[in-house]
Amino acid sequence: MEIQAAVVKEKGAFSVEVMDLSTPQPDEVLVKIVATGMCHTDLAVRDQHIPLPLPIVLGHEGAGVVVEVGTNVSNVAVGDHVVLTFGSCGKCESCLNGKPAYCIEFMGYNVSTRRPDGSCTHHQHGNPVGASFFYQSSFATHAIAHKRNVVKVPADLPLEILAPLGCGVQTGAGAVFNCVNANPGSSIAIFGIGAVGLSAVMAAKVAGCKIIIAVDVKPERLALASELGATHVINGSDANAVEAIGQIKAGGVDYSIEASGVPSVMTQAVESLSGTGTAVLLGVAPHDAKVCFNAGTLLGGRTIRCSIEGDSVPEVFIPKLVDLYRSGRFPFDRMSKYYEFDQINQAAADSESGSTIKPIIRMPA
Ligand code: ZN
Repeated sequence: MEIQAAVVKEKGAFSVEVMDLSTPQPDEVLVKIVATGMCHTDLAVRDQHIPLPLPIVLGHEGAGVVVEVGTNVSNVAVGDHVVLTFGSCGKCESCLNGKPAYCIEFMGYNVSTRRPDGSCTHHQHGNPVGASFFYQSSFATHAIAHKRNVVKVPADLPLEILAPLGCGVQTGAGAVFNCVNANPGSSIAIFGIGAVGLSAVMAAKVAGCKIIIAVDVKPERLALASELGATHVINGSDANAVEAIGQIKAGGVDYSIEASGVPSVMTQAVESLSGTGTAVLLGVAPHDAKVCFNAGTLLGGRTIRCSIEGDSVPEVFIPKLVDLYRSGRFPFDRMSKYYEFDQINQAAADSESGSTIKPIIRMPA
């Protein structure tokens, strides 16, 4: 079928063009996309910091309506509203253990330009165009997803609100709920107040954390963090965050979440912990960057761990987040700003300047 898709042909820019989308395979789902969140990973590929071959159709926080299902698909039906999330094989030890974010085929199902079988879903003038990004490539009017990365959501909530649940929101909330399972009355510091960090702030409030410290260098983001649940904010450009956290919570915090990807901030996230605290490092730094700790920091019983997608099992976790949103306790739409499809380059620019935390691209009806 003929679709419109935002293609990156040359490093640094999206271009909305007409192309052909193949029909779904037996395990696949054709989705009419209503809206798609934009995430830093999309821009990292656009700018070739993640060097997937061009041309490519990106987008991995899609939400839409099922229009066709393959013969092996039974978890969703035509007409269902769905949020698209990351792909996984469903067969490896990690998937079978309920840890699909650590699927051994994760790269092939997500950070790729073809289906896992090597075939191409998108063509233009008869030539293949890289797609199947996070098994969706949802910067488009339609997407082919896999039955394992579509999650049914209630039809009475706007899909444009729900779109970012599939990646950024579940990553930040999952760090709090799944990775550290934060206790009521506990203390937590969250470094990097973008979409992931704000999701962690909101989740910490839901979890009943008593001290929720947000650290960033942008005053307007810290102000939003305060509105969404932070009990304290620290501007990292004005203060030594580790010392400031020690003044708020003597001896350090129970948990820290790092969502900036800056190596020196990763160090701070570990150094601000109590002697038995746990740091969850979510931010992505250049692969060869070094993160340093004083040997003294490693004395004690601290845990340093990482997480992909907040350890989420999307079919279980995303509906829980939808319920929290509906109850008014997890207002993640507060960080979203909406753009029409032909404004996609403006959305990216606003994300990079920091004026928009979570751009959501609306597709033409
Ligand atoms: Zn797997």
